[in-house]
Amino acid sequence: MSELLTFFQGRQQQMVELLKTLVSYETPTLGKAHVDAMGAFMEQQFRDLGADSIERIAQETVGDLLLAKWNPDAPGKPILFLIHIDTVWPLGTLAERPTRIESDGRLFGPGAIDMKGGITVVLESLRGLKDRGEMPNRPIWVLMTTDEEVGSVYSNPTIKSVSPQAGLVLVMEPATIEESLKTMRKGIATYRMEIEGLPSHAGNAPEKGINAIIEFANQAVIVNRMNDLKNGRSVSVTMVEGGSATNVIPAKVVAHIDTRAISVEQYEETYEMMMGLEPVVPGAKLKVERINGHTPMERNATMIRQYAQCKAIGEAHGLTISEAMSGGGSDGNTVAGLGIPVLDGLGPQGDGLHALHEHVVLASLPRRCTLIAAMLKEWDFSK
Ligand SMILES: [Zn+2]
Repeated sequence: MSELLTFFQGRQQQMVELLKTLVSYETPTLGKAHVDAMGAFMEQQFRDLGADSIERIAQETVGDLLLAKWNPDAPGKPILFLIHIDTVWPLGTLAERPTRIESDGRLFGPGAIDMKGGITVVLESLRGLKDRGEMPNRPIWVLMTTDEEVGSVYSNPTIKSVSPQAGLVLVMEPATIEESLKTMRKGIATYRMEIEGLPSHAGNAPEKGINAIIEFANQAVIVNRMNDLKNGRSVSVTMVEGGSATNVIPAKVVAHIDTRAISVEQYEETYEMMMGLEPVVPGAKLKVERINGHTPMERNATMIRQYAQCKAIGEAHGLTISEAMSGGGSDGNTVAGLGIPVLDGLGPQGDGLHALHEHVVLASLPRRCTLIAAMLKEWDFSK
């Protein structure tokens, strides 16, 4: 076992205490005052850890963002951590489901794995390096956002302006249940389908109406045929609303369709297929629009190279490093889409994101801190 791993294992209790503190801040994305309270705690942490500068990027609707920098003038490109402090859980969740630690060493609590565990790893790996006098002489940045759980709509411009300055972006989203990094994330696009028919009395003149629900039923079957799960594409009708009264031929349907794609090519192909839909029922009008989209984080040559270096560094410190694919998106999709080297899923091992059984495997915290600390010390951009 490596000396660094032993060092961080000796600090596991300290990590657990910090994680408990982070979970004790309830941070629903739109509860700005509450999110800012945790932001203030984070700012103090960055200061305690010797950040040379902390920039606040004020927000009106969501919590303020912070950009903390260590050694900004040191040679080389920065390594940038991306963390988000918001969670999907409304205020009061903690009272219903207080933080608890099971005898098998798993900590349960709202937001614990997504992503307060990953935040714990960033802070404790920096603290470990600082206490050992081993803070590497390279620029290290942390961008703290507050709206990832609503698709990073407010922080997106900041992510897009800050991350291209970095040589490597580390996304601290949770690892998988097997503690794997996420080296591939599917692209996600949501489509809104609006169908317009013509209302008519279902008893007196059904033939004079244009039935928007029948048109939708046709479209649902067509869209469902676009599924190609074997090759990574999923197309799912997820919401539908239509009709106005039990005795009226329905004149309107609004539906939403969730699509996932494994490559940029497939992502764009899906777009073409969705935009190419034509009405089936005579006279029906069909409108399809993409209401949000995140390109895939591809497991391309850049990703394979970053992962290989990460794995080599981890293994030299006695860690087992593995990779997996995720069907869900993260800010890693955005960063990868800009062509910036990125690694994702560097948070701790755990499970139950956005679910009642959300938990962190506590023994993985020192392992991830070891990996992060070693990467900060040893990462070589020329590899
Ligand atoms: Zn997250």
